[in-house]
Amino acid sequence: MSVYNFAAGPAMLPTSVIQQIKGDLPSFNGSGMSVMEISHRSDLFEKIIAEAKTNLLNLLNLSDDYEVLFLQGGATTQFAAIPMNIAKTKHIGLVDTGHWAVRAQEEAQKAGIKVDTIASSKIDHYHDIPKVIKPQETLDYVHLTTNNTIEGTSYKTLPELNEPLVLDVSSNFLAQNYLFKNVDVIYGGAQKNLGIAGLTIVVIRKDLITKNDLPSMWNYQILAKKNSMLNTPPVFAIYTANLVLRWLKDLGGVLEIEKRNLQKSNLVYDFLNNSKLFTNPVKKDSRSLTNIIFSTGNDELDKKFIVEAEENDLLNLKGHRLVGGMRASLYNAMPYEGAKALVEFLEKFEKENRG
Ligand code: PLP
Repeated sequence: MSVYNFAAGPAMLPTSVIQQIKGDLPSFNGSGMSVMEISHRSDLFEKIIAEAKTNLLNLLNLSDDYEVLFLQGGATTQFAAIPMNIAKTKHIGLVDTGHWAVRAQEEAQKAGIKVDTIASSKIDHYHDIPKVIKPQETLDYVHLTTNNTIEGTSYKTLPELNEPLVLDVSSNFLAQNYLFKNVDVIYGGAQKNLGIAGLTIVVIRKDLITKNDLPSMWNYQILAKKNSMLNTPPVFAIYTANLVLRWLKDLGGVLEIEKRNLQKSNLVYDFLNNSKLFTNPVKKDSRSLTNIIFSTGNDELDKKFIVEAEENDLLNLKGHRLVGGMRASLYNAMPYEGAKALVEFLEKFEKENRG
């Protein structure tokens, strides 16, 4: 029986990518060096980073009006780095969809940015996605988290505002098809849908990259000029991201993976909708494709579920500590069979524990 890893990140990789990494480990491209040992100043790596850029822009359907930066420090660093680089009047808007949106707000404020919450679903315990109303004042941009990893919600389409959008796509990066109109920045960590931890990707409109006095590691102009190699980049993580991007391209791109992600998540949501034991608190039209939260409403029974799921090779289903219960992350690399195995186990557990 296969093991399925439902972790929210770091998360599972496509099997074929793991195979490719294994093959490349002893000697990358006949170099005699393992892929972990190659220099970021080598031709071998220059080719990887160039291909990764092109693949990413093609998959996002963006032109080369956008720059791709391969950085470190997680999306958490970018919560402050983005406004420091592009918020000209130091005044931005924020759509409050839960924990990570609030973290983005806190970090921007620490960098001296005024942040207006222009929409929030806090009053509904973040069980739905707030409708974004056009802001009254002029803002540099509006920050929006497209998918809320902890609360299990996501935007199906992006709101159309006068202000440009800055999107934290960490947990549905290339998992859901969005029309990126009037978007300044798209950013997220690689550890969920684009490979392994240690790499953060920022896709930014080139005309926003202007001269500034920020320290070098935060300074997009310097980082872009150095092709993300101002200091030693996470070579292995960028190499892995490129393999994942190739895998997604060969599979048919974002529209194809979105279709597959819908099939997986529909299977689980259909079960939850009809369950007499498990519930999902999220409003139907706000439900995430990639992170499904559920619980029995009884902490002891939830714990039993998580233990027995592990015994059945269904790993990392424990919910985030802030919301408890369970969470199944069905990122791009999770096969349909994984969602099916989860639903079969949910059915069995329900029969045995309905009392
Ligand atoms: N934003 C979202 C939506 C996330 O899910 C996470 C992490 O899970 C973060 C930001 C923080 O990312 P990082 O750990 O890469 O700093």
